[in-house]
Amino acid sequence: MSESAFHPTRALPYGRQNITDADVAAVTAALHADYLTQGPTVAEFEKQFAAYVGAKYAVAVSNGTAALHLCAMALKVQAGQRVITTPLTFSASANCVRYCGGEVHFADIDPATGLIDLLQVQALLEAHPKGHFTGIIPVDFAGLAVDLEATRQLADQYGLWIIEDSCHAPGGFFIDSQGQEQLCGNGNFADLAIFSFHPVKHIATGEGGMITTNSEQLFHHLLRLRTHGITRDPADLKREPDGGWYMEMQELGYNYRLPDLNCALGLSQLTRADAGLARRRLLAARYHVAFAQVPGVTVLAPGRKGHAYHLYVIEVADRKGLYDFLKTKQIFAQVHYIPVHRMPYYEGLGWKAGDFPLAEEYYAHCLSIPLFPTLTDEEQDYVVACISEFLSVEC
Ligand SMILES: *Cc1c(COP(=O)(O)O)cnc(C)c1O
Repeated sequence: MSESAFHPTRALPYGRQNITDADVAAVTAALHADYLTQGPTVAEFEKQFAAYVGAKYAVAVSNGTAALHLCAMALKVQAGQRVITTPLTFSASANCVRYCGGEVHFADIDPATGLIDLLQVQALLEAHPKGHFTGIIPVDFAGLAVDLEATRQLADQYGLWIIEDSCHAPGGFFIDSQGQEQLCGNGNFADLAIFSFHPVKHIATGEGGMITTNSEQLFHHLLRLRTHGITRDPADLKREPDGGWYMEMQELGYNYRLPDLNCALGLSQLTRADAGLARRRLLAARYHVAFAQVPGVTVLAPGRKGHAYHLYVIEVADRKGLYDFLKTKQIFAQVHYIPVHRMPYYEGLGWKAGDFPLAEEYYAHCLSIPLFPTLTDEEQDYVVACISEFLSVEC
């Protein structure tokens, strides 16, 4: 393909938020409301988000990392406990275990999907006595849903809890053994699931996060943990109230609340979540068709049913060359991810290069290219043309 005649009028990052006039109006209204935080918009956002992912309960928190931290606390992670996750994720998926003093262990990925390989998880579990590991944190990487039914079967054999990191996959699903669609975060298999509302994710609230679950008990515990460990709920009080002001701090929690302002934006964004997801899937389908004609580009997990397409990942021989070239074209691709075990902090805990060769090999070639709902067809064609140009020059 020759150089594109079209030149975009804006930089093209790998992901970006879509803020409409309706969003602005919703936030403006929230600014005039009685509560800037701890008001009724929080519960409304929780209710509607829970319905969107098909879960019974949702707890809004200040970001996805806080969501992971509270999940680890609610599942009582503590020193000496071992938790398994994937090396191919944002560090926060692993860090939550460390916040609680637990040990992070990894199982390598399936290079065809980028997801944690359940056979590798099984091998790890079988190599130790039961009780050696206490939980697993699978990640719906790039928007492709983990098979949580199979994960649950394995987890039950070894007594593990499951936290699904669904940050990439609101609206994503896998097909279970009965042929049913199982939405990410619906709580049918995982104990808890978490989402992020960072601007690069599907739903943006500035900073923000959500925990979903079908467990009433975990739900109540999370509500308390997100606000200092304090409860006012008469049913939960340990002592007799001595006045209308009475409340109890029952355990050590945090202030991880999400303000009403952000929840108002989230509610407004949620009304367009399906449209945004449909646009992501359409753009992904257009990329698939285009890259089928471009030698030297391998698409990660193309055409999977239920994929939510947070990221569109390609693999190329000269990843750094392509990344630098695209930058000169105002296309800001990104790498997801430097494997967690290769981070200096985790290497300090004993992990090293070569421990998870499939994740490392994936990392050497992967590039996330622009994919977000407001990306126009013309802009997308320009991205494809630039990638084609680089590869034709290269060979
Ligand atoms: C974004 C993200 C997080 C953290 O979310 P924040 O809201 O940025 O704290 C955790 N895990 C994954 C997989 C993510 O993509």
